[in-house]
Order: sequence, then structure tokens, then C-alpha cells
Amino acid sequence: MLNSLRSIVQEVNAARDMKTALAIIVARVKQVMKTHVCSVYLRDAKGDYVLMATDGLNADAVGKVRLAAGEGLVGRVVVREEPINLEHAEAHPSYQYFPETGEERYSSFLGVPIIHHRKVLGVLVVQQVEQRRFDEGEEAFLVTMSAQLAGVIAHAEATGGVIPVGAKAAQSKFVGVSGASGIAIGEAVVIAPTADLRSVPYQACKDVEAEITFFQRSLVAVRDDIKVLGVKLKERINREEQALFDAYLAMLDDASLGGEVVSRIRKGAVASYAWSEVILEHESIFNSMNDPYLRERATDLRDLGRRVLEYLQESNQKTRVYPDKTILIGEELTASMLGEIPKEKLAGLVSVQGSSNSHVAILARAMDIPTVMGAVDLPYTQIDGRPIIVDGYKGTVYCDPNPQLRKHYKAIYLEEQALVKGLEALKNLPCETQDRYRLPLHVNTGLMADVVRSLERGAEGVGLYRTEVPFLLRDRFPSEEEQRAIYREQLEAFAPHTVTMRTLDIGGDKALPYFPIEEDNPFLGWRGIRVTLDHPEIFLAQIRAMIKASEGLDNLRILLPMITNVQEVDASRALIQRVHKELLEEGYRVRKPQVGVMIEVPAAVYLAPELSRRVDFLSVGSNDLTQYLLAVDRNNAQVADLYQPFHPAVLRALQYIVYAAHDAGISVSICGELAGDPGAAILLMAMGYDVLSMNATNLPKVKSVIRGITFARAKQLLAEVMSMSNGDLIRERIDRELRETGLTRLIRPVASDSN
Ligand code: PEP
Ligand code: MG
Repeated sequence: MLNSLRSIVQEVNAARDMKTALAIIVARVKQVMKTHVCSVYLRDAKGDYVLMATDGLNADAVGKVRLAAGEGLVGRVVVREEPINLEHAEAHPSYQYFPETGEERYSSFLGVPIIHHRKVLGVLVVQQVEQRRFDEGEEAFLVTMSAQLAGVIAHAEATGGVIPVGAKAAQSKFVGVSGASGIAIGEAVVIAPTADLRSVPYQACKDVEAEITFFQRSLVAVRDDIKVLGVKLKERINREEQALFDAYLAMLDDASLGGEVVSRIRKGAVASYAWSEVILEHESIFNSMNDPYLRERATDLRDLGRRVLEYLQESNQKTRVYPDKTILIGEELTASMLGEIPKEKLAGLVSVQGSSNSHVAILARAMDIPTVMGAVDLPYTQIDGRPIIVDGYKGTVYCDPNPQLRKHYKAIYLEEQALVKGLEALKNLPCETQDRYRLPLHVNTGLMADVVRSLERGAEGVGLYRTEVPFLLRDRFPSEEEQRAIYREQLEAFAPHTVTMRTLDIGGDKALPYFPIEEDNPFLGWRGIRVTLDHPEIFLAQIRAMIKASEGLDNLRILLPMITNVQEVDASRALIQRVHKELLEEGYRVRKPQVGVMIEVPAAVYLAPELSRRVDFLSVGSNDLTQYLLAVDRNNAQVADLYQPFHPAVLRALQYIVYAAHDAGISVSICGELAGDPGAAILLMAMGYDVLSMNATNLPKVKSVIRGITFARAKQLLAEVMSMSNGDLIRERIDRELRETGLTRLIRPVASDSN
């Protein structure tokens, strides 16, 4: 059963459009369950459930039979949201007869709902001639099948057929979450991980003959590679395995896969797309076979597919010319991908995976690039080169926007520019409330480009310098001297203001390409201080570089990430102490920097009193703290709704940390994304945070909000929300406060919304 389940889901996943996916589902479920009929009904735009595919009923009925929720047996399954299993369907009071289906022959009926994100997308039905109740095992199988297929169907429904391959399509809208606010209007550039057959973007082929020659040259190259590999392994493998290499070579022949690909290139697709399509189709045929030997051949085919694809993509990559307003789109964008595109050409970002708390989104906010994350239904392989609008406020993406929509967004874009201009006037004004409460605003940095923007916007220091960013953009660890030079630039640019440098915080979703960490559960694994304490050579070099860089400036503070116990703090402090002593002995005239810890996990919250007695300051990483307090993966679009920075548990923890730090007489700042949220900033100020540190883009907005309110009012608002128990209502209450103070414009644009 498990094998059947897996192979059906795999096949459906590989289908390129909805119709094929449904045809596979009905045929395979019918075959595996040995029933006479299997059908799928799906909800249409009007909310009716329409017969979309069947194996067993009359094919003519497809698209014609429709039932409202509650109507007929299918409609009953919808409203009950649970299976209906009947040995004699016709006898049921809800039974409705549709003559065009020819279903009168079938007596037994089992219908299970297809539910995705709490919504009933459709109903999966099996029917049989004999009058019998489907047994428990059969019912459980269909329920499992339906739960597995729900996501696949939801995805295929949103993507399949929306934008037909290679054709111009009408405007379409896709929903994700906001990654970085702002509007971008530009052209899609789809970036695919190399040699990933499933994410090859469709591109129209401009010169068919040249593309065929290029394809054939790539095949020759792979043939040569395989021959060389075969010869190399000759001694070590047996004759049968040797035969595999010959089989590989045969598959590449014109009469086999090669020929099919050429004919698709002639129809207009580039070689890489045509190749991936042919390989995926053949893989799906192998996967559907019952013979384990033949199923295993799917693996060989995939391997061969990847080898050829690597050649096809390699030269594509080199010749890529980025349009002036590039909207970079990928299955899972990473920080290092951003580096591949010239900054002045990068207008917007869309990532199919990830959420607003992913590091790529944080970087995008720092770089002020409108971004949508978690656009899971975007048919990203089909939209390369298409016109795109990214609405980073709402988290929506539009493909092929019509002129009216373009005009609408152009207006919002211009309005945003005007707002930014208006806020520039605040640069030299202090961040203080109307009743003169002073709250220093710092910036979070990582790139050198952040420095200029931060200074332009009046930052009073760096609250978080993410040192992993320069590490991420390289192909090996930077040397001590390279690091020293980078750190010196930051320290010099902000002197005499302080720069808080966090020691290397890798792991979780921040993998260095040259130091991969592979774990099942990376956010609970080897990350932050755990990695660097296990590798003192990395930690010591970094601390040496930081302290050396601060010579003569004395504005360095060192921050330790992912601390969960006091031993980690003691061990880190001992290493910092040692480095400082050694540098003095070597003749450097350097001061011992202040050392602080990040409060990012619940353990550190409860240990805050003890930690505060060991260090000079605390800094709250609310991004991770929210993730760990609420047990919600910050990268997972599926649970993004549950990632609530205004959750009462988060607010209570944040308040507790301030009390602990102040009791011990040390300062406490917050450098998670929450600090840059204008509404949250009011609460954090009222809680007693000494410094808020945020991306440079949000700094003027936060300053404007703080200057627009009194400290007394902020305290009142805090007291009110701290007594509330529902995070959504807290968010609403804060938004209302901003509206009443006339500050709504600072959180989102006001151009009237026609969508
Ligand atoms: C945080 O977790 O809030 C934080 C500032 O660190 P990062 O986002 O880099 O994990
Ligand atoms: Mg963190």
C-alpha cells in the first residue's frame, strides 16, 4: 500500500498540468483499489463541485455533472468533511441520479473529502458494482490518498493551465507573504538550482537549428563522460553493471530520448526545458511500473537527466543578460543568489518557498528590494521573461499585468517615493517622543552598501552587524586579515558610534556554500555559538580580526548568538579575554570590547538574570525568539500565519527580559525585525528597551512614529495590550492606534485599491 501511495503521489507530482494530474489519480486509484470507478469532483469558482475526471463513469459527463455543497452524496461529503461509505448508494436519501454518468450500475459508494488548509477542495469517489461496504482498510487508504493529494491538487489547480506553456496569458495573481515592502514593476528572471529537472524554467527558443546543434553537442559531451566513467570503473564493477553504461549511452540516441527532445525544440522550447520535460515524463512511466527492477530504472534516468542538464545549463548561465528591472524568481532564493545580479538591475524578488522571516527576506529588507515570499502556487518555471508586478506590501505577485493594473501600481510606487523623500527631513532630528523621551535607533547591517544608507538615514550606531553576510558571499572562509579589513570599514564608518558585531551565526537556514551543515532539524541543531565554540580556530580568528580592527576607534561591541546556557557565555568570554591579552602582548593598543549575548531562545529568557550578571548588555533576537517560543519554523510558508510577533507569550517574554537586564544594571536592545515595525516600536519603547535596532529602510518610519506619540500614551497602550490574550486582536489594537494618530501612511501605501 505504502509503495502504491508513494508512487501515485510521485507521478501526480511530476504531471505538468492539472488535467494530466487528475487523469493519473483516477486511473491509479481505481487500479490499486481494484474498484470499478474512481472519480474526482473539484470545487469551481462558483463553489459548486464539478466532476473533473473519472475512470469508469461516462467520459462525456466530465465537466457537466455539478453539485452544490450539501447536494447529492458528493455534496454531503463536502458539508460533513468526512467520508461517506455506503453499500447501497441509491437507497440513501441524498442520492441524486445523473443519467449522463451511467452510474446506476454501481451500488457501493465511498466518497472522501479532499481538504487543503481547512478548505474542502473536492471529493474523491470510488464506486463498485457489487453491493458491499468498503472495508476499513480501503477507507483508510482513500483518506490517506486524499490527504496526500490535497496539496498536490491545490498546487496544480493554482498553477496548471493558468499560464499555458509558451503562450501569452491573461493577467494572473498569486498570493504569498510580504518579505520586504515596496512595489516593483519589471521582468521575471527565473533562477533555477543547476541540474534540478523539476525547476527548469520554460524559455522560448530563438534559433531552432542552433539550439539543436547545442543540444547535440551537450549529448556528445555526456556520452564522452559516461564512456570515461565506464572505463574507470571497469575493474570494480561486474558485467551487468557495465551493461548499465551501455544502456545509458543507448538512451541518448536519436531514436530514443534525443529524438524526442529535438522534436520539442522544433516546437519552440529551449533545449534545457525540452530535455527536462522528456526525462520527467519517462521517469513517471517507470515509476508507475509494478516491477521493482523497472522502477529502479527511474533513478538511472534521473541521473542521466541531471548529467545532460548540467551541460545545457552551464552555458545558459554564462550568457544570461539581466534586464534593467529584474524581478528575480526562484523556488528557494538564497542570500548568495542575490549577489549574482548587479544591484542596480535588481528591482524585486519572489521566492516560492520561505517566509518573511527567512534570511533572504531580511537581507532584501536591508537592501530595500520589494519581496514576496512563500508564493507557493506561482508556476515559476513558466514565467521567465514575463512582465511582473511585485506588491511587497500585500505579498502578491501579478504576471502579465494589464495596463490598468500597471497604472495603479505606478501610482503607489510614486507615492512611496514621495513618502521616503518626506521622511528624509527627519535625518538630523532626534528620535524622541512629544514628551521628550529619548530612544536611540540603531541599524542592522551586513553589507557595505548598508553603511551608506544607514548614515544617510540618521542611524546612531549599529545594533547588529551580521558577520555571516560577508562569509556567505565568498567561496571559502575569509582570512583573518580579510575580515579585519571588512570590520574596519564598518567601525570607521560609524565611529564614534558603537558597532555591535555578532560572531558568525551560521546553521539553521544560513549555510555557507563551502561549509555545508546537513541536518534533519537544522534550527534545533548545530548553529550559532555551537558551531564556533566547536571550531575555536574560526572563532579566534574572527575575534582577533574584530579587536584588531577596533584599534584607535574603541567602538566595538561583541555579540554572541544562540546562547542557551551560561557555560557557552563563560567559554566565549574566556576566548575573547585570551585574544585581547595576546593582542596586547603583540603590541596592539586595543581596548577590551564590551560583550553581550543574544536572547533568542526560551532558555535564555529564563536565564536572563544570570546571563545579565555575566555580560555588559543583552540584545534580543526576536526573529528566533518568536520561532522558538511559538514552535513555528520561521521559514515555513505553511505555518507563516502562526508566526505572530504580537502573540501575548512573545510580548510577556520581551517584557521579562527588560526587567532582568535592568535589575542587573545593564542595557538591553532588540535587533529582530520587530524593532523595525512602527507599531511594535511603540510597545518596545514603553517596555523599556534602551535601543531599537532595525534595517535602514524602516528607521525613518519608526522615528516618525516615535516623534508622533507621547511616552505616556505608549505606556497606556502597552498596559492595555499586555492584558489581552489574542495576538490578532493585539495587532488590530495597535493598527487602530496608528490610524488614530494619523500614522497609517507609514505602514502601507494609501493609493485606492482596485484589486
Ligand atoms: C533574530 O533572530 O532576531 C536575529 C536578529 O538574528 P537572525 O535574524 O540573523 O537570526
Ligand atoms: Mg537569530
